[in-house]
Amino acid sequence: MVFYIYKIKNVNYIGSTNNINRRCINHKERCWGKSCKNYHCSVYQYIRKKNIDIELEILFCYNGNCSYKTQRLVEQYYINKYDSKNNGLNSDDAFCNRIKYLKQYRQENKDKMKLYYEKNKGKLINRAKKYYQINKERIEKAKKIRWEKNKEKRKKKINCPICKSLIRKYCLKAHQKTKKCLKIKNSNISQNEIDFKYNQTAYNEEGEFMNWY
Ligand SMILES: [Zn+2]
Repeated sequence: MVFYIYKIKNVNYIGSTNNINRRCINHKERCWGKSCKNYHCSVYQYIRKKNIDIELEILFCYNGNCSYKTQRLVEQYYINKYDSKNNGLNSDDAFCNRIKYLKQYRQENKDKMKLYYEKNKGKLINRAKKYYQINKERIEKAKKIRWEKNKEKRKKKINCPICKSLIRKYCLKAHQKTKKCLKIKNSNISQNEIDFKYNQTAYNEEGEFMNWY
């Protein structure tokens, strides 16, 4: 399969396609067809304003098997090289970290998502239940594998930064809501005193390690 990265001539816009001619026609249709849903994209607004004849310059061509992810990465390389997102007419990155993208999306649409959830709560819960019922076996199996895999990780202990108690790392959040931890958090007790009282270790004024005993 052939895969191309192209730039629209005289426009800072990078794209990718498997068929240059078809893609060129496609750009023209979108640019000049008022009923097209992409008609108002900034790249087409620019082309109409400058009355540019759409031609595609091939920047990169690969003939062989390559994954969708690799294609997006190559495209992203050229978007970065030409700075066509910040200083050109590409509205999006070709490749972005999916987790990062979802995090950002959630941040930006927090209120909207909350409202949607409240409105469709019953429907969404039912859908999740149904999904679980259908995929029960697979979900439980994956859970078990995850549980086994993280066994060692869960055993790892750390000192709570507030009260210095030795606890399992994954319990930290829950621990910091306990009376014991909150009591220290809300007291005026100094870090040194905390070390002394709860960990039976502390440093004296010279910074030397002291033992409780
Ligand atoms: Zn604590």
